[in-house]
Amino acid sequence: MIENKMNRRGFFSAFIKLTGVAVIAPTVLNSVFSSTAAAQKKRGGAAPAAGGGMPLVDPNDSVAKAVKYIEDYKKAPEAKGNHCATCSFYAKKEAKNGKEAGTCTIFAGKLVYADAWCASWNKKA
Ligand code: SF4
Repeated sequence: MIENKMNRRGFFSAFIKLTGVAVIAPTVLNSVFSSTAAAQKKRGGAAPAAGGGMPLVDPNDSVAKAVKYIEDYKKAPEAKGNHCATCSFYAKKEAKNGKEAGTCTIFAGKLVYADAWCASWNKKA
């Protein structure tokens, strides 16, 4: 006979699995964020601030290298004067190291300098 209803044992088994995930998840996330911050610090980049500030894109990151990301567009002749502040993927957010920085669609969770540039630059409408 096929039983469609979950029995008591099945219910508690599922409950323990669900609550186990709920208890473990913050611990695992904390561990992941700690190791990410440590790795960023080791690379000489800015670790996420305690207040929730986002880290800057590391120019040596594989994605950054793939799109030729550079923190100062004036050092990249192929930028032709274009930079993040004039890019459609950029949104101004906060100051980093005394310079304007913002989010970029292609670097989720990271900030780029307003004066940075990459090969994915797209004119802001
Ligand atoms: S896509 Fe635009 S905002 Fe993002 S790094 Fe490249 S130029 Fe800057």
